[in-house]
Amino acid sequence: SDQQLIIYNSLSRKKEQFTPIHKGHVGMYVCGPTVYNNVHLGNCRTFLSFDLIYRFLLHLGYKVRYVRNITDAGHLENDADEGEDKISKKARLEQIEPMEIVQRYTLDFHNVLQKFNTLPPCIEPTATGHIVEQINMIESILEKGFAYEKNGSVYFDVKKYNKEQNYGKLSGRNIEELISGTRELDNQAEKKSSIDFALWKKASPEHIMRWKSPWSIGFPGWHLECSVMSSKYLGKTFDIHGGGMDLQFPHHECEIAQCIAANDVEPVKYWIHGNMLTFNGQRMSKSTGNAILPDELFSGNHPLLDQPYSPNTIRFFMLQAHYRSTLDISNNAIKAAEKGLNRLMKSFDLLHNLPTAAETNFDIEKWESSCYDAMCDDFNSPILIAHLFDASKFINQVNEGKGSINETDLLKIKQTFSGFIFDVLGLQANETQLTTKDNKESSLIEMLLNVRKEARENKNFKLSDDVRDGLSKLGISIKDNKEETIWEYES
Ligand code: AMP
Ligand code: ZN
Repeated sequence: SDQQLIIYNSLSRKKEQFTPIHKGHVGMYVCGPTVYNNVHLGNCRTFLSFDLIYRFLLHLGYKVRYVRNITDAGHLENDADEGEDKISKKARLEQIEPMEIVQRYTLDFHNVLQKFNTLPPCIEPTATGHIVEQINMIESILEKGFAYEKNGSVYFDVKKYNKEQNYGKLSGRNIEELISGTRELDNQAEKKSSIDFALWKKASPEHIMRWKSPWSIGFPGWHLECSVMSSKYLGKTFDIHGGGMDLQFPHHECEIAQCIAANDVEPVKYWIHGNMLTFNGQRMSKSTGNAILPDELFSGNHPLLDQPYSPNTIRFFMLQAHYRSTLDISNNAIKAAEKGLNRLMKSFDLLHNLPTAAETNFDIEKWESSCYDAMCDDFNSPILIAHLFDASKFINQVNEGKGSINETDLLKIKQTFSGFIFDVLGLQANETQLTTKDNKESSLIEMLLNVRKEARENKNFKLSDDVRDGLSKLGISIKDNKEETIWEYES
């Protein structure tokens, strides 16, 4: 495509023309969940935003290697490298293996994202699967002199790094500010400075997730896994790195520092951050207790919800906001989205039996390119959806005899419309389309019944029995009446 994609880069704080490092190929890394509890709707928003980005890159014809990790070790309860590992803590409370916690919530994550019709990543690496690589990266950082060992733990030397580089450039902070903002805790005594962060921590006796390393039996710091796994699978410098806004600091800031310290190169060309889902104006999060779980939405089983909502509706609701804007969830807002989605799908269905004429009184070309322009302007899905509604209005007019469309344009609008609705926005076919599929199946069965009828007329009873048995195996039973054969699904 000759469309020029523009992406807002959180590192330069500007919109930039997207030029991938290797022509036609895109490497994209998105920070995945820490799998110690059920994903809430806020988490889902971030993953849906990156699903939109992934889908649009594919739609433009790029070959994309999409890597999204699973954090299954090393994420401690607080950002100051103190507290229990989130997964170990849950395992301790439930008296099961940490890996049982990991398995349970990885499955939940996958199930939920599948309901939302997101495309799976190409690689889904885990922190525990890359301990060796993490140890290797720590060794490189130590060799370069940007880390130090203390009592079996290894810390990143932020002040030293900042003499040559700019720690804080992504999140717009400077280290003086950061130092005065962090409390000097007693148990931080191992660190030269309170802003240093752990690359490796020596395990305390009760810490059960532990591995052997040159420094101690311990575990890697949380920020390290993403530096290690992104460079392993996408290279030392790759195109896109994403995550929620809250990961900018410290997580992504530390990732940049680790990569530059170890590899001497800027790891990421375009940093993309999705904005937060809020509920009653407050960021949705497990810790503030205002988290809605996807299953609560799908069942309507939540004190603040009036009714159940389908994943398709929620997906559409989220896409109606730009990924860089905050989005507040409420019953009224989802209901409005549901109405809009139904309108859109209805007009899409109308396209299948729209009458054609000699002329088209709608500029299809212009409409199509404005759809692309919207998405090429930093993935502006709300503008795209507004354009889809324009087309929907026109389709309704044609249906009511108030407008006209010719054969060629009908084909074109059908293709573009379905490309954007299903491939790019990732919305799922509605019931009407399921009926279309059912109709196809019915036609196939009718066809087979005709074959059987002909076989019987020709006394080919082997074939006629084979058809009957074959259908029966598929759960379809047939009954011969005097005039006709009827079929039904066996219950
Ligand atoms: P976590 O498992 O807490 O690391 O979060 C997984 C992803 O969800 C991260 O990219 C977070 O930035 C993102 N996230 C967490 N809360 C929200 C929210 N309220 N809205 C959007 N994204 C969120
Ligand atoms: Zn990460």
